[in-house]
Amino acid sequence: MTDSHQKSLFADEVPWEAADQSDRWSAEIVFDLPVDQSFHYLVPDALREQLQAGQRVRVPFGQGNRRIVGFCVATGPPPSLSKRMKWVEAIVDLAPLVTPGMLQLTRWIGEHYLCSWGTVLHAVVPAGVKKNAGTRMARVYFLGDSDRLAADVASLTKKQEAVLDVIKNAKQPPTQGQILEAVGCGPSPVKTLERRKLIASKLVRTSTSRYDSPVAAQVTDLELNQDQKDAVTAICQVLESRKHETILLHGVTGSGKTEVYIQAIREVISYGRQAIVLVPEISLTPQTIRRFRSRFDTVAVLHSHLSDAERHWHWQQIAAGRVSVVVGARSAVFAPTPHLGLIVIDEEHETSFKQETTPRYHAREVARQRCELEQVPLVLGSATPTLESWQRVQDGEDQLVSMPRRVVGLPLPPVVLVDIRNDPRIGKGAAIGRALDHAIRQAIEDDGQVILFLNLRGFSPVFWCRACGESVTCPNCDVTLTWHRDKAAAMCHSCEYTCDPPSQCPACGDAGIRHVGVGTQRLEAEVKARYPEWNCLRMDSDSMRGRGSHDEALEKFRSGEVQILLGTQMIAKGLDFPNVTLVGVIAADTMLHQPDMRASERTFQLIAQVAGRTGRSERGGRVLVQTAMPAEPSIQFAAKHDYIGFTTQELSQRRAIRVPPYRRLARVIVRGPVEPDVVAQITAMAAVLRDHSQRLGIDNDVMILGPAPAPLTRLKTFYRYHLQISAETPEAIRTLWRNALPDFLDAKDIEFTIDVDPLNMR
Ligand code: ADP
Ligand code: ZN
Repeated sequence: MTDSHQKSLFADEVPWEAADQSDRWSAEIVFDLPVDQSFHYLVPDALREQLQAGQRVRVPFGQGNRRIVGFCVATGPPPSLSKRMKWVEAIVDLAPLVTPGMLQLTRWIGEHYLCSWGTVLHAVVPAGVKKNAGTRMARVYFLGDSDRLAADVASLTKKQEAVLDVIKNAKQPPTQGQILEAVGCGPSPVKTLERRKLIASKLVRTSTSRYDSPVAAQVTDLELNQDQKDAVTAICQVLESRKHETILLHGVTGSGKTEVYIQAIREVISYGRQAIVLVPEISLTPQTIRRFRSRFDTVAVLHSHLSDAERHWHWQQIAAGRVSVVVGARSAVFAPTPHLGLIVIDEEHETSFKQETTPRYHAREVARQRCELEQVPLVLGSATPTLESWQRVQDGEDQLVSMPRRVVGLPLPPVVLVDIRNDPRIGKGAAIGRALDHAIRQAIEDDGQVILFLNLRGFSPVFWCRACGESVTCPNCDVTLTWHRDKAAAMCHSCEYTCDPPSQCPACGDAGIRHVGVGTQRLEAEVKARYPEWNCLRMDSDSMRGRGSHDEALEKFRSGEVQILLGTQMIAKGLDFPNVTLVGVIAADTMLHQPDMRASERTFQLIAQVAGRTGRSERGGRVLVQTAMPAEPSIQFAAKHDYIGFTTQELSQRRAIRVPPYRRLARVIVRGPVEPDVVAQITAMAAVLRDHSQRLGIDNDVMILGPAPAPLTRLKTFYRYHLQISAETPEAIRTLWRNALPDFLDAKDIEFTIDVDPLNMR
């Protein structure tokens, strides 16, 4: 916050009784506090002209009148007047941080996800934007003393040299944000250079220079096949109608969905509008970015590694209309494009589109709402749409466009299920059974390449005691410790707790403790030992820490230097390597054991996605799925590539057990350090909810399920219990919660969260 921009006015000059009250002006203000309401403040005359909705203000709050900052969401004559009304003290921002459209959208989020409007606003405006909101000036950098430069150049670090190069080659003096973006570094090299007087800076009015995204060689659009043309036409029809409609683009893996997005976006740009493309964070890889940068001049990429300064810079460029395509993860749905023309959500079934901290929004639902407000199309693309999205099509609410064939007319690969229950090697603890071993050898001897998928990282997921049968859990969580051999450590994947591997059982003291089960590191060791003549490479979040490591690894695979690529989710999605003739799924069942109504749906999705990585050229390809549950319907349907068969069966089951998409859910979690307190609190909460439900007369529809211990009862030293509210419509849940909330807010020391439309059931 820059104090110089704040107009302070501590009291109104004229006594209340003497002033003319008919001309009063007020502001409606919301705060980042867990309260379900807004507050009205009087606006002093001196601030009346400047204050607009979307700016932040500083006001006295509560009994002690402590000063806090809130968002002004409306101004106007006061709805009611009283002498006790407080005054706005200062305006924090020079200009509104959010548009009227964004105010409407954030308000909807607060109402739908049952959290305060102020909390939503606070969360969606990036920190860098809030911090710099008072500056219309920017600092730009140019080269310093040339004698010094010549003398000192030998002593520079690589990063410092890169910074100098950027400044030297820029057409206009660049801002720090532009330098950091181009070099890919933090601010320290710039500061050091400036201190050594090798560069200098000055303040200028924020530049209006063209948006410079790093350029990639431009590629021309492909000639679309008939399915793709039909899909683009459907999107363009909605675009031209200037009405909102959601299009579910159900296209099998390799059907060319990205090309459809690209050509629809071209249309959007020709209208002078902008497009937002949301992809799962894990798919926001250099290849994905290149695919868009090689087609469009001005692409902004919003990923989670941006610094505050970088994010702020992008935000400004987008708001100024200098960006035509925004590509980003979940939060890019809030990108301040001035004339939005289209939002695309690729891989709409991915759970990472749901935020798991307050506000717990789902980007798909926010996008739907935003597209409706702005009357533009929303495109949801997936080979395996969620049951929620499929059901909306069945209900006639959304439009379905199908692309059932792969682009080049190749068939989807055959999927073979391998029952590992009697496999002697697996019985001895190996990851690769006999059938998969044969298939790997054959694929590579025929000059193909292999992808092996396993969604457990680390070496072994469990330390197990032979004597008493106990496994070793994290001291803070109900999670077994994973053995990371490379770090010689036992680690908790929930809280990062790390310790030396236990040498004896913490339960019985026996020394026979050993690690069991296979993670990606152990799979890597097995592959290296078994196929020493071939190169293998592991991709998971442990091995892909460094910047650029992802690109480097995939390049080695693409060039053929590496024959076997193995890894987690990271390799399950989006990769397009024509030479991959075999995909092996090491353990298809890992997800089926989770206490989650979506376990089957996720298993189906995963097998379908992984299978999509092969059979992408004339060389063909096949998939081997190792499973101990070969009769499981989700696995059977996935092996037949039968999305509709699976979905039809799964929907009828969901209807029978009365769960989403047929009912709406909200999950309430109470947590605390003392288990009996948590139990008492959530029991009381359930009683209050049941009571209100009865009084409101909605207890024939609304069901309160629980309370019960959450599946992950202990997390980061806290005990967790949950209950679920289930109802026919989201409105019933909202009404109940709004009525009951004041009772919970009055109760002291109770820590609860509510998750509307929850995806994570742990
Ligand atoms: P999906 O996202 O549906 O899995 P992609 O968009 O990745 O499919 O497309 C698969 C491959 O087909 C990519 O290599 C893409 O460049 C190529 N492709 C897409 N459309 C066409 C087309 N019309 N003609 C030729 N190749 C295409
Ligand atoms: Zn832990």
